[in-house]
Amino acid sequence: MKVIIVGGVAGGASCAARLRRLDEKADILMVERGPYVSYANCGLPYHVGGAIEQESSLLVATEQTFREQFAIDCRTRCEVVGISPAQKTVELKNHVTGEVTTEKYDKLVLSPGAAPIRPPLPGIDLPGIFSVRTVPDARAIREWLDRDAADRSGMNSYTGYQTVTRPQRAVVVGGGFIGLEMVENLIHRGLDVTLIEKLNQVMPPLDPEMARLVERYMVKHGVRLELNDGVAGFEQSAPRGTGSSTDGALEVLTVSGKRLPADIVILAIGVRPETALAKMAGIEIGERGGIRVDEQMRTSDPDIFAVGDAVEVRDFVTGQWTLIPLAGPANRQGRIAAEVIVGRDSRFRGTQGTSICQIFEGVIASTGASEKLLTQLGETDFEKIYLYPNSHAGYYPGAKYIAMKVIFRKSDGRLLGAQVLGEDGVPKRIDSFAMAIQAGFTIYDLEEAELCYAPPFGSAKDPVNFAGMVAADVLRGDMPLCHWGSVDGGFLLDVRNPAELAVESVPGAVNIPLPQLRARLGELPRDREILVICRSGQRAYYATRILLQNGFKARNVAGGMLSRSHLARVETVEDEEGIAKPIQSQT
Ligand code: FAD
Repeated sequence: MKVIIVGGVAGGASCAARLRRLDEKADILMVERGPYVSYANCGLPYHVGGAIEQESSLLVATEQTFREQFAIDCRTRCEVVGISPAQKTVELKNHVTGEVTTEKYDKLVLSPGAAPIRPPLPGIDLPGIFSVRTVPDARAIREWLDRDAADRSGMNSYTGYQTVTRPQRAVVVGGGFIGLEMVENLIHRGLDVTLIEKLNQVMPPLDPEMARLVERYMVKHGVRLELNDGVAGFEQSAPRGTGSSTDGALEVLTVSGKRLPADIVILAIGVRPETALAKMAGIEIGERGGIRVDEQMRTSDPDIFAVGDAVEVRDFVTGQWTLIPLAGPANRQGRIAAEVIVGRDSRFRGTQGTSICQIFEGVIASTGASEKLLTQLGETDFEKIYLYPNSHAGYYPGAKYIAMKVIFRKSDGRLLGAQVLGEDGVPKRIDSFAMAIQAGFTIYDLEEAELCYAPPFGSAKDPVNFAGMVAADVLRGDMPLCHWGSVDGGFLLDVRNPAELAVESVPGAVNIPLPQLRARLGELPRDREILVICRSGQRAYYATRILLQNGFKARNVAGGMLSRSHLARVETVEDEEGIAKPIQSQT
């Protein structure tokens, strides 16, 4: 059996290696257009930033590894330029010699990935505007940033005094995870960074109020945020020495009319599935623009499989078709295609978009459906909770609070999605939620989950258990809940201590600290619903229980003052020296 695999990175390389492990006799040809196979594109931003110093560290396996270890005919700088499904042949172009040859296949696997979107804006091809997809892209960005490094270091030693040179300015377009990783790494390199994002939030998989916390990390590290604004075009400003303040660099023109100076622009506005070959072969393309495949990664042509960023997949939670360009699904799909080719009955379960991203000291992770996605789909059978548990036992040094939003079905408690942010313990929690979603668990299962615990790592009631307990209290009616968006006109009872109110209080809220509540019940109305507030929702829960058991109508305001703080957007103003300073405004 001859299997040709198009694309030699995540999905393609996984497929090739798995196929060899399952079938020693298969004739496998893996073709890669670029100079490298099996490289770590996920590491590219960190190579730009310098955390991964050597380019060679990004090369997980080489052409030679595939040849020698797996007996796979692996060809780089070789592109599949045509497919003829009727003849079951592909045309290969060797980019070194220019030669075009034809190869026959029994099974063909497409893993061509997704290309960064480069909209046809004026000036898009000016030098200094980069996308980040391949090792040569990262190399080009590093070379561009280093191009006048010698001049710059020279200036520091003219007189023996440290002279100050203007930091280079970067504009990153797009606030998804590649954009954010580039922002962080450019800041690490000492650049002055502006992030421009067309939506009203960064990190689209998150709900906007959780994204506010991410934006705070960026503003704290001096990133200028331009949300709700798109790029209209690029211009090259007047050359150096002409007195222009922009030194011959680029200017990014925004839809709102701003002109942002930049020495480098990184485009990270998303990717588009590479479907040219599939279209050429007459294969079905789905409603989201990706190659349509079944659960076994088979396309509309039974001898052609497709995997990775190029395909549409079913969202595991909503069942809708979706595009989720992530390395984990691409690798699993590559394995599944190989298993199906050798006759096994493997199936892909769908993607739930489990992802994680570091932004300075913060870690942002999400899995499953967001509230905004469910709302877009017209779903109403769901509830959300916010909680802020410690990452590990509070008495053990170094505990940090984690911000969690957990979404579950009201009717049966099934877990639908989770968003977790913080500086410690985030990966452990998001992976627990991700496993629970895939297992079809409910919030009642989370209550009972047995998770590891010792003081440096967690709590006897882990944040994941805690989320289950809070959500189950809501569904069992032990803790009726309301959200900040619906408190207007309600009777607000704040059970925090007076010292906490001095920091921040809610206008019109009556304050009775929790320890005094039982003695002061007479001060509360029996004919109105009482909405209870504290810092994070925990003391408000205790108060709600006291009130309910004393015949009051009461609800806990989810997440308390901490979730209220999500509503505030952090913006920057520049001081006299042009340094960005954070200010908070209510949105
Ligand atoms: P790719 O890995 O892109 O491989 C496709 C290959 O096919 C390319 O090398 C291309 O040259 C080749 N090709 C295309 N057409 C042809 C042709 N006609 N002939 C021959 N070869 C062809 N995901 C995560 O889960 N976590 C992360 O932290 C993360 N970080 C990322 C950071 C960056 C900068 C980038 C770019 C991506 C990141 N991803 C991350 C996404 C992840 O890398 C992709 O989801 C994954 O690589 C997709 O695998 P793939 O095989 O579909 O495509």
